[in-house]
Amino acid sequence: MVASLTQLQIRTHCPYCAFQCGMTVSPALEVRPDETFPVNRGQMCIKGFTSAELLDHRERITTPLLRGADGRLAPASWDAALDFVAERLLALRAAHGPEALAAFGSGALTNEKAYLLGKFARLALRTPNIDYNGRYCMASAAAGQNRAFGIDRGLPFPVSDIADTKALLLWGSNVADTMPPIMQWISAQRAQGALMVVDPRRTETARAAQLHLQPTPGTDLLLANGLLHLAIEDRLVDEAYIDARTVGFEAARQTALAVHPAHVERVTGVPIEQQRRAVHLLGEAESAMLLSGRGPEQQSKGADTVVAFTNLMLALGKVGKPRSGYGCLTGQGNGQGGREHGQKADQLPGYRQIENPDDRAAMARFWGVDAAALPGKGKSAYELLDALGPEGGIRALLVFGSNVAVASPNARHIDRRLAALDLLVVCDAFLNETTAAAHAVLPITQWAEEDGTMTNLEGRVILRHRVRTPPPGAWSDLEIIAALAERLGEGARFRFASAEEVFGELARATAGARADYSGISYAKIRAQDGVFWPCPAPDHPGTPRLFAERFGFPDGKARFHGVRHRDAAELPDAAYPLYFTTGRYKEHYNSGAQTRRVAALTDVRPAPRLQLHPRLAARLGVAEGGRLLVESRRGEVTFQVTVSPDIRPDTLFAPFHWGGKSAANTLTIPALDPTSRMPEFKVCAVRATAVAGSV
Ligand code: SF4
Repeated sequence: MVASLTQLQIRTHCPYCAFQCGMTVSPALEVRPDETFPVNRGQMCIKGFTSAELLDHRERITTPLLRGADGRLAPASWDAALDFVAERLLALRAAHGPEALAAFGSGALTNEKAYLLGKFARLALRTPNIDYNGRYCMASAAAGQNRAFGIDRGLPFPVSDIADTKALLLWGSNVADTMPPIMQWISAQRAQGALMVVDPRRTETARAAQLHLQPTPGTDLLLANGLLHLAIEDRLVDEAYIDARTVGFEAARQTALAVHPAHVERVTGVPIEQQRRAVHLLGEAESAMLLSGRGPEQQSKGADTVVAFTNLMLALGKVGKPRSGYGCLTGQGNGQGGREHGQKADQLPGYRQIENPDDRAAMARFWGVDAAALPGKGKSAYELLDALGPEGGIRALLVFGSNVAVASPNARHIDRRLAALDLLVVCDAFLNETTAAAHAVLPITQWAEEDGTMTNLEGRVILRHRVRTPPPGAWSDLEIIAALAERLGEGARFRFASAEEVFGELARATAGARADYSGISYAKIRAQDGVFWPCPAPDHPGTPRLFAERFGFPDGKARFHGVRHRDAAELPDAAYPLYFTTGRYKEHYNSGAQTRRVAALTDVRPAPRLQLHPRLAARLGVAEGGRLLVESRRGEVTFQVTVSPDIRPDTLFAPFHWGGKSAANTLTIPALDPTSRMPEFKVCAVRATAVAGSV
C-alpha cells in the first residue's frame, strides 16, 4: 500500500506545474498540501487546491468519440474506435510511407508515458515524426545547458538552496504567479541577501525585488553580454576558477567586450548604473544564482541567450559552488522528465541523442531491433504541425495531452493545418480546441486515477499515486498505446501489467546514459521523498547537486561560447509599432483546457485582459475596461484592457490561456531558434486600435 499520512489521505502530487507540489488526496477527493514534502512544505496555489474538481466534471468524456458522416463526434465502443484508428494508420502508412504518421506528446505526461510513446512512434508507427509541447517550454534552456555544461537538468541543486544564496537574479520568470509556493524559498533568500528581477513588466515577482531591470522585449542576450562586459571591466571575473574548470573563455570575453555598456543601455533601455549594480551584487556575493524562465528562453535566440547566462555565471566563478550557479525554472509538470525519455524528435531514452551512432546502437540493442531500422531525427513541434496535410506530407497525427490549437504560435494557421489531416486522433479527458478537428477522441484517465513518475524542476523523480478508480470508459494513455501497438502488429513490445513495470523498463533503458534512472525504483522514490537523477545503481542515493567537481563533458570542464545579440525576428515598425508579449495568470495553466473549467478559477479570471501602460492607453484613446483590437501580420484579437504602469509604454501583454477569438497565440510569430527550434512567443510586432463604443 502507498505511504499515507492518515488512512484516508494518500500522498501524491499536483497535476499542473513543474514544482509538483506534494499533496494528499482522500478517496472523497479532499485535497490538502503535504506538510512533509520538502519542496512545497505545506504550501500550494489555487490551481492545486482545485485540481480534483476536474475528476468528476460534468464535461468529462468517458466514451470514445468518432466523427460521423454528418461531421459530428458520436460515441463508439473502444474496439470500434481503436480498430478505426489502427486501420487508418496502416492504410496511410501503406499509401504514403511511415513519415506520413506523427505523434505529439506533452510535458504533462508521466515518464512512463513519455517513454512508451517514444518507443511506439519509433517501433510501431516507425516514424521519425514525434515531438511534444515541451519544445515550447524547455527547449532553449536545455540546448543552452547542454552546450555549456554537457548535461541538461533544470536546476542543478534542490530548491531549498535558493533560500541560502546571497544574490539571486530571476530573469524573465514571474514565479510569484506561476508557482507561488516557491516564494517561501525566495522570501527567505531576500531576508538575508539581494534579490534582483529582469522582466519587461513589473510583476508580482519584480515587486518583491530590491532591483528590477526592465529591458525592451527581445534584448535579454545583449543585456547578459553587457553584464559580462562590466564584470570583465570591473575585475569581477574569477580567473582561477576559469582556468581550473572551464574551456573557451576568450571567445566569450571578446564578444562581451565588443558591446559597450552605453550601447546596451540604448538598446535594452536598462541604465548602466542598474547593469553595474546587478553584476556587482552577483559577482561580489559569496554565493549567487541566476535562474531563468520563459521570458528570455521563448525567443528565436533563446538558446544563445541561455549560453550568455551560463557565460556570465561561469566567468563569475559561481557554477558548481555551494548555493550558486545557473538554473532554469521548468514550467510544465514533467517538462524535465518529458524531454529525457524519447518523445522529443532528436532524443532517445536517458537523454540519448538519436543522431549519435553509439546512442542509437545502445537503444536498438535494448529494444532488440536493428539500429538501421530506428528512424532518425524528426521535425520539431511547430515544424511538425506546419507539415500537417498533403502539402507537408504528414497525413495522420496522434495527440497525447496537448492542446496544440491554443498552445502553438500563429494559432489560426495551426487550425488550418489540423483541418487538412486525413486522421487526427486526440487522447484527452475533455473536448478542447484541438479536438474540434479530430476524427477520433479517446477518453483518458486523469492524474489521480493512475500511478506514474514525474521529474520535477529540480531533477527529482517523484511518484504520483492512484487515489481512486477511474470512471468506466476512461483508459490510461499506456493502455491506449498498447492497444494500438497490438493492432499494428507490435503488441509484444508494449505489454505491461502496470505503470511500475513500464518504469522498470525505462530505468533499465537509461543505464549508462546521461539521464541515468537505472538505480531508481518506485520503492526508493517512496522511501526518499523522490530521487534526483543521475542515479546509476540501486545502492546509489541519487544526485541532488551537480557540478561540484565536474561538468558533463569528458574532460569535466564547462564550455564558454561567444554568442552575439541579434534582433527579434519581427521588430516594431511604422505599420506595427508596438511590441507584443505573452505570459501567464496565477489562476490558469498553459492552454487553459483544464483550468478554464474550474469555477473558482474562472470566477477570478474569466477572460484574458490586455495590459498596457497609461501613456499608451491615452495615446490609443482607451481606458480601463475598454477594448482594443490588436493586429499582427498573422491575425487579430480583441481584448478588454487593463491599464497599468507596471508595463513598458512600448509593449502590450496578454496571457495565452484562451483559445478561439481570445487566443493570444493568434498574434505570435513562429520564428524558430536555429538550435532549440523554440518559437518566438515572447516578441512580435502589433498595432492596436480602440474599438468604437468601448469605454
Ligand atoms: S500549479 Fe504548481 S505551484 Fe500550484 S499547486 Fe500545482 S504544483 Fe504547486
